[in-house]
This record gives sequence, structure tokens and C-alpha cells, in this order.
Amino acid sequence: MEGGKLIVFSAPSGSGKTTIVRHLLAQSDLNLAFSVSATSRPRRPREKHGEDYYYMTVSEFKQRIKNEDFLEWEEVYRDNFYGTLKAEIERLWAEGKNVIFDIDVVGGLRIKKKFPERTLAVFVKPPSVDELKIRLKKRSTESEDKINMRIAKASVEMATAPQFDFIIKNYELDTALEEAHELVAAYLRGEPIPAKP
Ligand code: 5GP
Repeated sequence: MEGGKLIVFSAPSGSGKTTIVRHLLAQSDLNLAFSVSATSRPRRPREKHGEDYYYMTVSEFKQRIKNEDFLEWEEVYRDNFYGTLKAEIERLWAEGKNVIFDIDVVGGLRIKKKFPERTLAVFVKPPSVDELKIRLKKRSTESEDKINMRIAKASVEMATAPQFDFIIKNYELDTALEEAHELVAAYLRGEPIPAKP
């Protein structure tokens, strides 16, 4: 695999990483393209196949694991598989893009380990697990059960923050967006990653 750089944003569900990733994608100076993951979770009403995710059944997903089509994959929640297809990254690199990921902490660290010299791995830290609960309830894309599953996982995920190259505190969105933009722009210019705050 040859190509550009990889920018990974990982965080517990509801911490605002998707908002940050969307903001960065809109900045033309960064030349970023979104790595569309594959998933076996059901499509949410406003999501589009090929834009938000490549949706597939659990058995299709398992077949693609067997075929070694994934750069990394994870059963993030029971029967909800998520993974990065090798072909997706090759396609975006062939277009001359830097690739940005919105993936869970395990997947994020796995990508960093595979491509340490060309990956910036950022952890997005929410103010607290209680705040996450409020945000997930407000978003109301998931059932109560699923929200609780995500909250239970959040504490474990928070503990992985020190393994990332940089931690962005998403306490105030505009500040986090600005900080993320500056960080990614500097990394793409080849500057060293600043010390963790
Ligand atoms: P959601 O169901 O809210 O879209 O995503 C659930 C979690 O799975 C999020 O933390 C999301 O970042 C993560 N995720 C999405 N795509 C991937 C992927 O390709 N690999 C891994 N490991 N996690 C992913």
C-alpha cells in the first residue's frame, strides 16, 4: 500500500467526533476524504449506503473477514460489526487524498500500529460519561437498551485516551473544531505532533 496520510478520530459514541470529522472534511486546504466503513448494523433513516457506511448482513461481513478484505474490523457491539476495507483506503490514496477515519478506539489504535509513520491518531474526550448519556439520549437514534450498551463501553474507551497521539477535549464545540483543524493542518505539513495537553 502506498499513498497519503491517515487521520484517525476515535472516541466513545456521542463524544462529537463525527461532527469534528465532518468539519475537517469541509476544509479544502486539508485535502481529506472520508474512509467509508463497512457495518452490519442497521442503516439509520438519514444515512446513505456508500456515504455513511457500506451496509451488509452479518454473514456477508463474516465472509469478507474470511477473505481478508479488512484492514481492521471489530465487533463493536454484539452482532454489530464495523470494519475498514483495504479497497476503500487504496481507492482514496489512488485519488491522491489523505484519509480521515471515524472509528472506535480499538480500530483507531490498530491503524496507528499498522501505519505508525503516516497516522495521526486523535482521541476526542467528552466532558464526562454523564454528559455522553445526555447527548446520546438527545440524538435518539438508538433504543434505551442500545444507549446503555454504548454508555457501558464508554468508560472502558475513555481509559485508552493516553495511547493516542493527541487528545482533543470536546467541552466547547467551536474550540474543539478550531483545535482539530490546526492540529491536522500542522501534521499534514509534516510538523511534529505537539505534546499532549
Ligand atoms: P455508529 O453505530 O454510531 O455509527 O458507530 C459505532 C462505533 O463504531 C463508533 O465508535 C464508530 O466510530 C465505530 N466505527 C465506525 N466504523 C468503524 C470501523 O471501520 N472500524 C471500527 N473499528 N470501528 C468503527
